[in-house]
Amino acid sequence: MRDENCLFCKIISGEIPSTKVYEDDYVFAFRDINPQAPTHVLVVPKAHIACVDAIDGENSVYVAKSFEAIAKIAKAEGLDTGYRVINNCGEDGGQTVMHLHFHLIGGVKLSEKIV
Ligand code: AMP
Ligand code: ZN
Repeated sequence: MRDENCLFCKIISGEIPSTKVYEDDYVFAFRDINPQAPTHVLVVPKAHIACVDAIDGENSVYVAKSFEAIAKIAKAEGLDTGYRVINNCGEDGGQTVMHLHFHLIGGVKLSEKIV
């Protein structure tokens, strides 16, 4: 459930401070330290799942709950005209923290797209 060396596990436990925007039994969400838009929230499952590759039938409830949380946070942040959800997976995907997380980005008309 927890990896002692993981930055996001330490943020979830409160060992490292963060600006929390949402929490429930499955999900912890906080503001990115290096925001790329007016709203940039990291939505993180409370189980240490390293990346998308590690999602399976045992832990996928955390993924579903993460997206339920994203919808709630987007409403709370007033992102009524849309937003983007990004996941970086692994080295080629640009993932720097190996604890599954979803970037919720919005509050501005987003332009850069690769898909
Ligand atoms: P990724 O590159 O997809 O793994 O995303 C990791 C994100 O974590 C980056 O956007 C960082 O800015 C963010 N980040 C790293 N350390 C912290 C921290 N202590 N508090 C909040 N966000 C952080
Ligand atoms: Zn972790």
